[in-house]
Amino acid sequence: MNDLMGRIKDVARAMGITDVSVADASDWGTDPLVSSRIAVPGRPLSILPAAKSVVVIGVPLQKAILATAPSIYYKSLYDTVNILLDQAGERIALELGAEGFDAVYVPRDGYHGLAGLKMYQSAFFSHRHAAYLAGMGTFGINNAILTPDHGPRMRFTSIITSAELPSVGPMKREFCIKCRKCTKACPGEAIGDKPYPESVVRKERCLEVSAELAAKGISPCGRCIAVCPVGRDNSDPVPTDAAIAEIRKYVKNR
Ligand code: SF4
Ligand code: SF4
Repeated sequence: MNDLMGRIKDVARAMGITDVSVADASDWGTDPLVSSRIAVPGRPLSILPAAKSVVVIGVPLQKAILATAPSIYYKSLYDTVNILLDQAGERIALELGAEGFDAVYVPRDGYHGLAGLKMYQSAFFSHRHAAYLAGMGTFGINNAILTPDHGPRMRFTSIITSAELPSVGPMKREFCIKCRKCTKACPGEAIGDKPYPESVVRKERCLEVSAELAAKGISPCGRCIAVCPVGRDNSDPVPTDAAIAEIRKYVKNR
């Protein structure tokens, strides 16, 4: 299976994606944090009954662009990263299929945009919980996965497969330093002040902010992941205040 893992990584790397890890599909039912939050229909074994593994791929959101959020610049990055993840997910699923395994990717948008989120509160599959089980990071107070290199500035997608691939399990280390910068920065007062899952982001408040920004053409918000001090990328250069102010002027007139 090491050769197969190598080929999966090659497919991802050919698309510029270097963060690739694997979760054991049965862990959705045994890990207490995940099994308490993710109902049975949203688990890999419900989506692909032959599932043995979930390949999780991650793409960082550059700090320099996220520093401008909310903005047309960050919106464009967010949309582009989602497309890249979806395409890479399908490419990896096809590679696994060619090797004789069942494999399906799960799309980034598993909810139908803001309207769907308002109705369902979450996507039909949680890539964050998959990334946690694949050992890519641990949850922060902002409910995002905090990673060593990029803090919460990573987006993920998942490929569910019948291939039995080597997995490492969740990281033992907590990255969230409980500084609560995310809580203070949230314009919707949506973030609690306790670690996940004790505090869960109030989605309806986050959605209100997102809807206002969408009307201006600059959703998503992103402030709670922009301000997080966790991640080696915090030493990356960011645009000047003047450049950020200029970029933020570009909103739709309504
Ligand atoms: S901003 Fe601070 S409290 Fe919020 S997730 Fe990051 S480290 Fe944790
Ligand atoms: S995306 Fe914005 S509104 Fe939503 S929780 Fe984060 S900071 Fe708050």
